[in-house]
Amino acid sequence: MVRNILTVAETRDGSLRNVSLEILAAAERLTDGGEITAVLFGSESAKYVEVLGQYGAHRVVTVNNRELDNYTTEAYSQALLQVIDSVKADAILMPHTALGKDLAPRIAARLGLGLVSDVTDIKLVDGEVLFTRPIYSGKAFEQKRMVEGIPFATIRPNNIPIRDTGVSTAVKIEFSADIKELRTIIREVVRKTSGKVDLTEAKVIISGGRGVKTAEGFAPLQELADVLGGAVGASRGACDAGYCDYSLQIGQTGKVVTPDLYIAAGISGAIQHLAGMSNSKVIVAINKDPEAPIFQVADYGIVGDLFEVLPMLTEELKQMLCKV
Ligand code: FAD
Repeated sequence: MVRNILTVAETRDGSLRNVSLEILAAAERLTDGGEITAVLFGSESAKYVEVLGQYGAHRVVTVNNRELDNYTTEAYSQALLQVIDSVKADAILMPHTALGKDLAPRIAARLGLGLVSDVTDIKLVDGEVLFTRPIYSGKAFEQKRMVEGIPFATIRPNNIPIRDTGVSTAVKIEFSADIKELRTIIREVVRKTSGKVDLTEAKVIISGGRGVKTAEGFAPLQELADVLGGAVGASRGACDAGYCDYSLQIGQTGKVVTPDLYIAAGISGAIQHLAGMSNSKVIVAINKDPEAPIFQVADYGIVGDLFEVLPMLTEELKQMLCKV
């Protein structure tokens, strides 16, 4: 039985990432009356104690060493190992973000633990933690349990519904980590794109493929994304053609996303693209070719020219949203 679970929260550009709250909801499923402790790193961490408490943390450990303001594997792993030891965690959950994907394997190796990565569902069955994760590029799911060591997993964003308790009674614990002999110090982070909505956490994604034809061809996608409060993504075809930055690429070698709504415009639906988006809740495909493979995974298909369909959709949605 898990009695003392540790979740790792994460911020990005000064905001708490939603997945930090999702892993608290995941932790809640495992504890059965136990303690949930969230840890947050960096000098701004104290700002988020209340919200973490409101979404399920009983205790929030803030580690505000200067070295933790920008992520480095070395500094974060030193600090997290000390926190794990100090709170005597008997289960650890981390976000399956760039940070979690980098940090979790190192922590697992240092502690000699197994790690279940990219978990999309988690439950307690007969006192045992059962993790569900996609395999074969999302074509099947497997269930895993730990046979030894404590449960340790990274949780894919946008899969576990958050739980707002309405009040925060979280106890704040300030922790000063002993960080030494760093070989790397990050002085400044320069982001490649300044997308308003983070692609991996977006509820709505409008993605463009080679069918957009030029960089300017992304404009109708951005307009629709703005109306829906979503983010713009892309196929590798569009990235390779130089229409957009590789940071927008979705798929096997790009980002894996699970939004509520994924609109694929001018994307053929190659298996490598599907690997990154086929678990989206609702998929809409817009393609000129009625035989395009993307229609096989789409919930709604529109056969037509994206440059005609997208502006019509944007206009309709603007009207609808004005009336609400
Ligand atoms: P195309 O296949 O060229 O499709 C363009 C589509 O646009 C066509 O279906 C066409 O009918 C339609 N179209 C054209 N004009 C219009 C219009 N005006 N209106 C509507 N529809 C229109 N791909 C990824 O996306 N992500 C990955 O992570 C990825 N990783 C890969 C890894 C490996 C190892 C390999 C080998 C490949 C990978 N690929 C990846 C590439 C993948 O195989 C495809 O080549 C790529 O996804 C094709 O991109 P696309 O659908 O935009 O282009």
